[in-house]
Amino acid sequence: MPQSPTGDQGAQDPRRRIPRTDHLLALPEVVAASGSMGERVVRDVVRAAQDRARRGEIAPEDVQAAVLAALGEHSASSLRPVLNATGVIVHTNLGRAPLSAAARQALQDASGYTDVEFDLATGARARRGAGARAALLAACPAAEDALVVNNGAAALLLATTALAAGREVLWSRGELVEIGAGFRLAELVASAGAQVREVGTTNRTHAADYRDALAGGTVGAVLKVHTSNYRIEGFTSEVGIAELAGIAHAHGVPLIADLGSGLLAPEPALPAEPDTATALADGADVVLTSGDKLLGGPQAGILLGRAEVIARLARHPLARAVRADKLALAALEATLAGPVPPVLAALRQDPVALRERTARLAERVGGSVVPHDGRVGGGGGAEVPLPGWALALEPGLAAPLRAGEPAVVATVRDDACLLDLRCVPGEADDTLAAAIEAARAGAVITADGKR
Ligand SMILES: *Cc1c(COP(=O)(O)O)cnc(C)c1O
Repeated sequence: MPQSPTGDQGAQDPRRRIPRTDHLLALPEVVAASGSMGERVVRDVVRAAQDRARRGEIAPEDVQAAVLAALGEHSASSLRPVLNATGVIVHTNLGRAPLSAAARQALQDASGYTDVEFDLATGARARRGAGARAALLAACPAAEDALVVNNGAAALLLATTALAAGREVLWSRGELVEIGAGFRLAELVASAGAQVREVGTTNRTHAADYRDALAGGTVGAVLKVHTSNYRIEGFTSEVGIAELAGIAHAHGVPLIADLGSGLLAPEPALPAEPDTATALADGADVVLTSGDKLLGGPQAGILLGRAEVIARLARHPLARAVRADKLALAALEATLAGPVPPVLAALRQDPVALRERTARLAERVGGSVVPHDGRVGGGGGAEVPLPGWALALEPGLAAPLRAGEPAVVATVRDDACLLDLRCVPGEADDTLAAAIEAARAGAVITADGKR
C-alpha cells in the first residue's frame, strides 16, 4: 500500500497546517475578491498558493494572504491597458484605435440583449445594424448604401468574391500590398475564387495596361488599392480612380477601391490621404476601409457605395461569415455620431500645446524636451511625419515602464527613452508621471540586483 502522506511524522509536517481548499474558498475576502472570476479560476489560484506552501516557498500561515494577493492582481481578461507614449497613432500591436468615451459607453450598453436585429415598435425582425448604417450614410452622403463586416480584409474578400469569383480582378503591380504579419492582400483575394491579374510594373502602371487586360473580356472587377503602408517615389505613374472608373465602366466592369485607412472625408492634417467621399465622387462603385484605423472606431470593415453593388455583396453567402458583431456595430455608430474620436484628436494635436505638456511633465520628472515626429502608423499616412515633441529620459526606464501598472510603451532611440504625449490622453498626465516615478523605483531595485 502507498504510504499515507500523513504518516507517523505527519503531526510535525508543516504541510498539515496548509489551509484547506473549502476553508479558503469560503473566506469572505476570497468571495469578495473573486467577484469577477469564474469558480475554476479561483480554485486554480487557491491551488497555486497551496502548492507554493507544499514546496516550502511560503509558510502555510501565508497561504491565505497569497491567495488574496493573487486574486487582487487577477482580472478576467489577460489584456492590460497601455499608455501609448510612442507617438504612433494607429499602433496595430497596441490594438489600433482607442475608442471614444461615446463608443465605450455604447459597447457597455450593447453588451447585454439589444435590438441589433429587432424592431421594438413592431416586434418584428429588422435589418441588422441599421443604426450603424444610418450613421455611415450620414457621415458619407456620397454613398447610396453601406455594409459593415468584420474587418478590412473581410471587406476586400467579400467584394472581390461577390463581384469577380471565377473571373479576374485587375490589380496594379505597384499596389500589391502586404499588410502586417506577412498577410498579402492578393493571396487573400486569390484564396476565395477570383483570379488576380497583375497589370503594369512596380513603379509604373498606365491606363493602357488596364484597357488591354479588359479587352479580353475575362475581368470581373478592377481593383484600386491604396498603398497605405508604403510609398513608391521617383519614376512612377499610376491611374487615378476617376480615370480608372471610366475605363472599367466602359467595359461594364465595377471598380472596387480599397482605401484601408478609413477617412470618410478629406482630412486637412493628411492632405495626401485618399478618402471615401472623393473616391465615390470619382466613380468607384464600392469603397472599402477599416473601422479601427483613421476612422477611430472598433475593428470593422466598411463598404460604402452604389446601392445595387452593396445589395449584391450583402446577399452573397460569404457576407454571413464575415458579418460584424453587435459590439462593433454599436461602437462604430457611436464613433461616427459622437465627438472627435481619440485617433483624430491625436492626429490634429497642436505641436505648441504638445510641447507645453511635455515641458510640464519634464518639470515633474526631469529629462529633456526634444523634437519628435509622430506617425499615423498602420493603415495610412505612410512616411508622413507629424511634428511634435518627446520627453527624453534614461534608456533603462523603457522595460520597467512596460512592466508597470498601467503599462507605458515608449520608444528607445539614440540611447534615450522617448515619451511622446501625442497619443496619451491629457487627463492621464498625472498617471504617466506616477508611472515614471514607479519605474525609476523599480529600475533602481533591478540595478541593485534585488529584483
Ligand atoms: C489595413 C488594410 C487592409 C486590411 O484591413 P484590416 O481592417 O486590417 O483587416 C486592407 N487594405 C488596405 C489598403 C489596408 O490598409
